[in-house]
Amino acid sequence: MSRPLREPLFKTTAFTFNSFVEMQAALYGDSKDYFYARDGHPTLEALEKRLLEVEPADFAMVFSTGMSAISTGVFALLSGGDHVIVQKEIYGPTRLLFEEYLSSFGVSSSFLDVNDMKALESSITPDTELIYLEMPAPFTLSCAPLKEIRSLADKYQISIMVDNSAGFGYERVSHYADLVAVSLSKYPAGDSGIMGGALLGTQGWKEPVEMARSTFGGSMMPWDAESLLGEMENMETQLELIASGAYQFRNMLREHPKVKNVYYPEEHSGKDLRMGGFVTVEIDISLMDVPRFIDGLTLFQKGVFWGGSVPVVTPLLASYRIEVLKEWGLSPGLIRFYTGTANPKQLYSDVVNALESL
Ligand SMILES: *Cc1c(COP(=O)(O)O)cnc(C)c1O
Repeated sequence: MSRPLREPLFKTTAFTFNSFVEMQAALYGDSKDYFYARDGHPTLEALEKRLLEVEPADFAMVFSTGMSAISTGVFALLSGGDHVIVQKEIYGPTRLLFEEYLSSFGVSSSFLDVNDMKALESSITPDTELIYLEMPAPFTLSCAPLKEIRSLADKYQISIMVDNSAGFGYERVSHYADLVAVSLSKYPAGDSGIMGGALLGTQGWKEPVEMARSTFGGSMMPWDAESLLGEMENMETQLELIASGAYQFRNMLREHPKVKNVYYPEEHSGKDLRMGGFVTVEIDISLMDVPRFIDGLTLFQKGVFWGGSVPVVTPLLASYRIEVLKEWGLSPGLIRFYTGTANPKQLYSDVVNALESL
């Protein structure tokens, strides 16, 4: 008998039972039967299986957005009185989650440069429950030494959560982390048409995360899961193309006399990771000239999104106020390029032209 090529989309939120006993078993959690889409759904499970092919953890659970996955995961891991060590250079809304919301529930956070193992160890307190990381860092693209951090966490019995949105499909991190969060709105969604998020993790966290997803209600819609499965069909090939373009673009930028610093993901040994579509630069122009340089680029869209085929430029100066950047220790002159799948030579010429017309 022939089979459909694609996973079926069950466009239902509800499931019914044949008998009292079946119903009770499902609701008591004694059977794995579905009963309501917020708690589990076959189309979501098909996507969860696909994510586990990319990042082989013990379980995967999908959410309506990346932030929904992150906040649900963090609430599942922590209780009042806990202390968290958070990577200092972190996705803005995640910082807000720790600074504004968790603090009001009695969870304290220390924001640290997690590449500094000494500082990391000395900030551990008896209440430290979690180390929260992002790989790679959003602007400097630095990659935390996960292996070392895992040994430290094991020594003090601390959990690790990693936001691997920008490394998903490139670097497997679930081996070192209790929970991995991924924004599916980026690489997996392809060209910016769907939002989604996921948590992948070790067996021990499956039930707490499942309960938290059901309680906080951030589950994904089945129709989005089905669309994401379609978008992810080609993801691995697309990721290779993106990484190869970004790597070439990085190499060209390094040779330009006006480009002071080039940031690109590296291992701690200094080896390039050839990961993702990001290259961040600091250019030898005044901050006053940054807006004109950005407006002079013709091939890059101006925005904060990424993950698809479209090239994007994100000047840090347009994203956060200078006082905030100082507090985070980030230079306001940083400009992040996302190459997408565009021709790296043409992108480089665009940068050269925009610099020459200043
Ligand atoms: C976009 C992003 C998120 C949030 O994901 P959404 O799907 O937009 O909620 C989290 N972390 C990183 C690193 C991101 O780039």
